[in-house]
Amino acid sequence: MAKSIDTRCCIVGGGPAGMMLGYLLARAGVDVTVIEKHGDFFRDFRGDTIHPSTLELMHELGILDDFLKLPHQQARQLHGQYGDFTFTLADFSHLPTRCKFVAFMPQWDFLNFLADRAKRYPGFRLLMQTEATDLIDTGAAIAGVRANTPDGPLDIRAVLTIGCDGRHSTVRASARLRVEEIGAPMDVLWFSLSRKPGDPADVMGVFKAGHIFIAINRGDYWQCGYVIPKGSIDQVHLRGLPAFRTDVAGSMAVLADRVDEIAAWDQIKPLTVAVDRLESWYRRGLLCIGDAAHAMSPVGGVGINLAVQDAVATANILAGPLRSGAVDDSLLRRVQERREFPARMTQRAQVMVQNNVITGVLGGKSDMKPPLVLKLLKCFPMLRRIPARLVGIGIRPEHVRTPDVATASTA
Ligand SMILES: Cc1cc2nc3c(=O)[nH]c(=O)nc-3n(C[C@H](O)[C@H](O)[C@H](O)COP(=O)(O)OP(=O)(O)OC[C@H]3O[C@@H](n4cnc5c(N)ncnc54)[C@H](O)[C@@H]3O)c2cc1C
Repeated sequence: MAKSIDTRCCIVGGGPAGMMLGYLLARAGVDVTVIEKHGDFFRDFRGDTIHPSTLELMHELGILDDFLKLPHQQARQLHGQYGDFTFTLADFSHLPTRCKFVAFMPQWDFLNFLADRAKRYPGFRLLMQTEATDLIDTGAAIAGVRANTPDGPLDIRAVLTIGCDGRHSTVRASARLRVEEIGAPMDVLWFSLSRKPGDPADVMGVFKAGHIFIAINRGDYWQCGYVIPKGSIDQVHLRGLPAFRTDVAGSMAVLADRVDEIAAWDQIKPLTVAVDRLESWYRRGLLCIGDAAHAMSPVGGVGINLAVQDAVATANILAGPLRSGAVDDSLLRRVQERREFPARMTQRAQVMVQNNVITGVLGGKSDMKPPLVLKLLKCFPMLRRIPARLVGIGIRPEHVRTPDVATASTA
């Protein structure tokens, strides 16, 4: 017999969407349980970017100063190289936000910070090593999830279940929500190389015929992403590690003296890229947000931002009704109506870049003549504010409208 617990809202997945939503709901006085299948937040690289809009939310929540005390790097501009052509892609210094930079911070630090804040509220419960395997479906509605824990099976009964379990969402599959596949032409190999005094400080994106290389300054090391054509990992392996090291050295000359640090394939984590979205984000008693509702391409590095924005909108719309115990379909529809447009528009822009730039570069057939848009960005610095706004703030930015029960009770 499975053990059973009751909660008002069960959030499946402790990624950026799930942890931000759990924190906001607990802060607003909702009894909420977040379940996360891993034992901690340390795992393969999933994006380390905290955007100006997320930092703005932190300010609205009164936690920005503490957050910025955590070790991080600040990127005020994003630079790139296309063949031999160098350019600045985005300039965040003119954004109408408190922080005019993207903060680069390991995602586990961000998630641990949110967990620590959320645990200060009595309604918050975080169950690690708890993996949702199925939904509790009464026929009339979803009434929670079935999960595996180290102590055996657990039923978590909830008024509302929210799938924040990412691109390979179990929740959306169990709910049989229809997925529209959009697809991506690439996968990414992640690894790290040491960073030495005198190395450049900036984030770099290098486009070479056949591959794209990204290097993110992480203080004492470089987080490196090597973008390959989808499904071509076997070919990379076949060419061998020395050839891979040569490619990396050729992508960023400053790293040539340390590519030998890549001693074995298991230092390199392949990440499959998916781009898709749900037709309907909800069923009675169930909602999906973040990558579970719309898996984002890494293009522009905006998926975490969208996941966080989804969480804020969800809390704004649902915290009050959840506190009083009733959430009907019309409220769930309002969440989708609020967030579907930004997700669709962002995916459309990502697919445009995938089709018009990435496919050509990865195909290796490109003559590496820089696209007109890159030349314009180089000639007219003002134009760099447009990608900065799209990446740094995004479409339809959200603001925290939920109360803080701690403040309310002492006021
Ligand atoms: C290669 C690559 C690089 C990227 N780089 C960036 C970047 O630099 N910046 C950026 O903004 N975005 C980036 N993205 C996109 C970003 O990773 C996602 O959009 C974002 O993480 C989505 O957040 P989420 O909370 O919805 O889902 P996720 O971050 O995927 O979190 C889902 C969580 O649910 C947990 N989980 C899954 N299944 C279960 C289950 N059954 N039970 C319990 N828990 C479960 C997982 O362990 C995970 O913790 C990148 C994506 C890829 C593929």
